[in-house]
Amino acid sequence: MSGFAWDPCEKCEKMMQPYLDRVLTEEERLEAEEHLAGCSYCRKRYRFEEEFRQFVRLAVSEPMPPGLKAKLAALRTPL
Ligand SMILES: [Zn+2]
Repeated sequence: MSGFAWDPCEKCEKMMQPYLDRVLTEEERLEAEEHLAGCSYCRKRYRFEEEFRQFVRLAVSEPMPPGLKAKLAALRTPL
C-alpha cells in the first residue's frame, strides 16, 4: 500500500494531457468524459490541471492575483 490518500489512476495518466490539449478524437474524448464522470481521482486531477494551466497563462501576462494563489494552494491535496 502506498501512503497516498487516493490511488493514482492509470487511465488518467494516458488521457489527461491529450484531453486537456483537446487533441483526442471524438470517440476518445467521449470515453475520457465518461471516465471523468466516474473517477474522482481523475476529476480532481483534471480540475487541478485546468487551474494550473489558467495560472500559467495568467502568470506570463500579469502578476498572480492573491485569490488565485490561495485557490491553487487549496487544490493541492495533502498526501
Ligand atoms: Zn481515472
